[in-house]
This record gives sequence, C-alpha cells and structure tokens, in this order.
Amino acid sequence: MTAMMQAVYFLEPGKLEMREVHVPTPGPGEVVIKVESATTCGTDLKAYRRGHKLFKPPMPFGHEYAGYISAVGAGVTRFKEGDAVAGTNAAPCNECFYCRRGRQQLCVLLEGRFNFGSYAEYHRITDCIVAQNLHHKPDNVPFTEASFIEPLACAVLCAINADIQLGDTVAIIGVGAQGLMQIQLAKALGATRVIAIGRSPGRLERAKQVGADVIYSSNDGDPVEFVRSLTEGRGADVVIEAAGSIDTWQQAVMMARNGATVMQFSGLPGGTQVSFDATKLHYGEITMKGTFHLTPRTAEMAMQMLATGTVNVKPILDGVIPLTQVEEGLLRMQRSEVIKLAVVPSM
Ligand SMILES: [Zn+2]
Ligand SMILES: [Zn+2]
Repeated sequence: MTAMMQAVYFLEPGKLEMREVHVPTPGPGEVVIKVESATTCGTDLKAYRRGHKLFKPPMPFGHEYAGYISAVGAGVTRFKEGDAVAGTNAAPCNECFYCRRGRQQLCVLLEGRFNFGSYAEYHRITDCIVAQNLHHKPDNVPFTEASFIEPLACAVLCAINADIQLGDTVAIIGVGAQGLMQIQLAKALGATRVIAIGRSPGRLERAKQVGADVIYSSNDGDPVEFVRSLTEGRGADVVIEAAGSIDTWQQAVMMARNGATVMQFSGLPGGTQVSFDATKLHYGEITMKGTFHLTPRTAEMAMQMLATGTVNVKPILDGVIPLTQVEEGLLRMQRSEVIKLAVVPSM
C-alpha cells in the first residue's frame, strides 16, 4: 500500500477540490519532491477564472515549486534524496523545428510537457524537466523564494529580448509580480531611468522599493502623455507591457519612441484583437515582440539571480498559506489584496 497525500485539483473554472491521492513514485529519469513552497501565479488565477489553453481540467493544480527530493527514479545522477531543489514546469525537446532554431520556448512538444501538481504534499518532476530545468537550491535562498525560478525565468527571457541598453529609459506597465521583477532586470541591464506605471498606490510604492526611478498611477492621467513628458516628447527607448489589457497593449506602443522595442509580455484571452496606429508602427520603426515562457538558460540565470540578489523577490511575496487555502489565496489575488503567496503544505 502506497502512502496517501493531500493535493489540490482544478476541476473547472471557479472550482478547485482537495483530494486524497497516492504519493507519486518516480519513473525512469524522474524525481519526486516533498513540496516546501508552491507559489501562486497569475496564470493559475487566469485558469481558475476563465480557463486557459494550457490547462486541461480536471487536473492537478500548481506549477511553481521548491522542495526536498524524496525519491529518485532510475538513471538520475545529478540529484539524490534529500537535495533541496527548485525548477520549472516544462522542458523543450531540443530536436524540433523551433528548438533547432534556438527558440526552445516555442518547442512543438512543450504544450504536452507541462507538468502540474505542485499544490500538493509531493510533486513528481518529469524526466525532461529533471534533465534540463531542475536546479539545486542555493543555501541562501529560502524555499519560498526559490519557487520564483519559473516566473523569474520568464521575466529574464523578456528582458533579454527587450534589448535594453546602458542608459536607456524603460517604461514598464504593470506592477504585479512580473512588473516588479522586470523593473529590477531593467536596472541590472543598465537602464538609467525605469518608469513604473500602475494603478494601486501600494504596488507603485513597492515598484519604488525594488528600484523604479519614477512611478506613475494611470488613475492620475494618461500614462502615454506622462512618459512623453519625461522624454522631450519622444517616448521610452524600451516599453514592457505586463498588465494584461487591450488598453495597456495599445499604450505600450504609443509611449515608445521611434525605433523602440515594445515587449508584449502579458497574454490576453484567446481571439482578442488589438489595433494599433499603423503610422506609428511603420514610420516610427517600432519593433513589437511577443514573449512567452522561458528557456533552460533563463531558468539557470533566474536561480543565480535569486542567489546573488540581482532580483529580490521578498517585496513580491505577500505571505504563506497552507494547502487548504489555495482557492482563498487565488481570490485574494483577484481582489488585488496580494501579489503572490507561497503555499506551504507542511503548515
Ligand atoms: Zn507561474
Ligand atoms: Zn522542440
């Protein structure tokens, strides 16, 4: 008889369930970890509210994690029982059309490789993730911060593709978890002026705390005009949209200077149409890029940045909750009471 554990399942939008299930056992190349921290994520909230193309409920829920390895499958040599680790939720095949072109985040097999179930006492990590995206946790990084490796790796990929240069003015729309990490990455890359745009005064204060040079509340007026007023009418050198609305996608383009790069970081619901002034895009030579997910390299970088303090996630974490409060935690995120919570099953 195998041991049983508590695990949170996603049944359908608006519905979670706590289930008693078998503790997973690792297959070849896999490990099982005893979860010490599973951070809540905007993507989980999105799935919970309206469904998500990568989520196929009913399914185990949660995808950010850090913990101790409790069992090791055949053939795993890099990890042993008792190791403290954190990792991401998928890994590329490295053989398909996109992987061969260095775009592992677009791997054709990625969708089928997402590994869910970290809102549980134990979490099985699949072989491709163990091989590429599982990392030893540095001693100086608490579990609750190590589980940021996945969202931070996404932020790092965005920052790299944003092509930020020394001395740039970077406008970042959105001061949620992603925005607050992007601010720190922009500073680390040498931006001299980071303008953080949001609504909530409390979150804008946190933006200041993590390094934003200027903060602006969209409640006080037009953020496009504001960014232009700080740049002699030109607009920002780089704009990163991390707020997730049609309006902010449009604002991102309008507050960019000619020749700027605009990163559309946040996903909008499937089928959403966003329109732009073609004149601005064409004559202004705006480079607009989507950015999705992460690569094994950005995950590795993320773990290093957590260890060195290049990115400080303490101001983004609003507390710890037990497994029984996952749903309540997501609702608190929805009401904007908290940005991110760490689910700690041993609580
Ligand atoms: Zn996430
Ligand atoms: Zn691939």
